[in-house]
Amino acid sequence: MNDDNSRDLYDRALSVMPGGVNSAVRAAIEPYPFFVQKGEGGHVIDADGNRYVDWVLGLGPLLLGHDLPEPVQAGIQQKASEGPMYGTPTEVEVDLAEFVVRHVPSVEKIRFVNSGTEATTSAVRLARGYTGRNKIVVMQGGYHGAQESTLVEGDHENPRPSSAGIPQSFAEHTLPVPFNDEDAVREVFEEHGDDIAAVLTEPILGNYGIVYPEEGYHEFLREITDEHGSLLIFDEVITGFRVGGLGCAQSEFGVTPDLTTFGKIIGGGFPVGAIGGRAEIIENFTPSGDVFQAGTFSGHPVTMAAGLETLKFAAENDVYEHVNGLGDRLRRGLTDIVADQAPSYTVTGTDSMFKVIFTREGPGPDSLEEQCPAGCRQDPTCPRYDYSPKNAGDVKNAETERWRRIFWGQMKEQGVFLSQNQFECQFVSYGHTEEDVEETLEAYKHAL
Ligand SMILES: *Cc1c(COP(=O)(O)O)cnc(C)c1O
Repeated sequence: MNDDNSRDLYDRALSVMPGGVNSAVRAAIEPYPFFVQKGEGGHVIDADGNRYVDWVLGLGPLLLGHDLPEPVQAGIQQKASEGPMYGTPTEVEVDLAEFVVRHVPSVEKIRFVNSGTEATTSAVRLARGYTGRNKIVVMQGGYHGAQESTLVEGDHENPRPSSAGIPQSFAEHTLPVPFNDEDAVREVFEEHGDDIAAVLTEPILGNYGIVYPEEGYHEFLREITDEHGSLLIFDEVITGFRVGGLGCAQSEFGVTPDLTTFGKIIGGGFPVGAIGGRAEIIENFTPSGDVFQAGTFSGHPVTMAAGLETLKFAAENDVYEHVNGLGDRLRRGLTDIVADQAPSYTVTGTDSMFKVIFTREGPGPDSLEEQCPAGCRQDPTCPRYDYSPKNAGDVKNAETERWRRIFWGQMKEQGVFLSQNQFECQFVSYGHTEEDVEETLEAYKHAL
């Protein structure tokens, strides 16, 4: 596989951009990332003309794949040709807001912003402003973008910034707990209950190998936040309009958060974020309330048109059947391959998300016959249950170096583009085909 052009481009990039990239994770590929020239259906073609089946899909936004259907193309092109943006409202913002309010159970009002990071930043400020409290409970291994309140590691007794440039005094207002651990949350509420503005969690950990919640976990979070007058915020930047179809993951789990953050799919491939929730809370954003929130590009007409037409297309076509069906085939196929070739590994994911976590050899089950057939559901009757990854610590203990240094390159050599490391999630799009799935399973068979 020739990669001369990508190497030359990366060389130029290193001279003018830190690490040669505009988002840190892109440089995780060694010795250098391939540069994409264009997309086609479920594939990307790199700067040297190599073609890959693409399961990264821009890290989540591309529900429809790289070839946008005609109405989506037309919507985007019309808005772009009318003039980029105005600094005064446009109809398409109202159309997309109405669409989301109609489909997502907990959302009565919504504010659009420009990234998932901006959405979670604003949601945290809103929760603090609304409750008059300071502290935020987050899950270890959860990701909420590049923002001060959530770039925090350690545990609730010893939180510390996970990045340079964040004061320790900021980090002290963030309380990280392990996902799927009710006792840890109880302990935090016993100690800080009166000062907890919100629990902020992804419904499914999607940036740390894909970890599914144990049965009852979200119901528990709903109850304990209610008891203490704290808000429950679901970060659905990944799961929104991907898990649970147009109702999002909250409809799949039947749990209603106070606030939801969106990003990725809701902008149809353009920069976007949003904060939705109960009207009474959302109204606290300026100008109706006193929690400051603003943005030059917020509600950008091209983004709004791309998001609206994408979601309308999904509502009117077999998009979720297609992507979830292929997701199911991938996870079932991977479960069989793993049982044969790497029985200590765990297949995870749901709907159109999938991953194989390289869990280590351990006191594994004798037989995998009764395991979850299409991705780990934390089912206590599954023979794999005791050693399936339930939180960030479990995923971190997997063979992450083998994943990144050995396995990823073997998949690339076979023309399959997987996410840059063990932690990022992989996605199926409407542009993918059954042949893409079969080709990918064959590649896994050789690489695992
Ligand atoms: C991607 C992501 C974010 C950050 O969104 P950006 O648009 O990259 O700022 C926040 N939360 C979750 C769950 C994400 O997956």
